[in-house]
Amino acid sequence: MTGGCFCGRIRYEVTGQPFNSTICHCEDCRRAAAAPLVACFSVSRREFRLTRGTPKGFASSAWGTRSFCPDCGTHLTFVHSELPDEIDVTTCSLDSPELVPPTDHVRTAKSLPWIHMADDLPKHPGRRQPV
Ligand SMILES: [Zn+2]
Ligand SMILES: [Zn+2]
Repeated sequence: MTGGCFCGRIRYEVTGQPFNSTICHCEDCRRAAAAPLVACFSVSRREFRLTRGTPKGFASSAWGTRSFCPDCGTHLTFVHSELPDEIDVTTCSLDSPELVPPTDHVRTAKSLPWIHMADDLPKHPGRRQPV
């Protein structure tokens, strides 16, 4: 799968199988994307490769680094310091986001009061419990 930012300066390729495809309701994702919810999925770090450009990194918390396009601002990835072998990719930066549907919601305790979810996906108030 391929994806990139809105303006095209940053392009990437995902070669592995996505996992933990979710919709995150946390405040950090909300503010980084200026959107009420953010769909993202995880993939092994070695199965994610930039093919054009270099995103700008931003330490959005003590444990996480986000990246975005320095030109158009599209939010692209998140890496958790405790999970350095994984990278979270924003589903809607994919060229075909329909290929990676979400399988649950996380951090719903932080959801905005005017968000009403009508799907049947599992809803986790906090982080997803390890399987
Ligand atoms: Zn861009
Ligand atoms: Zn989040």
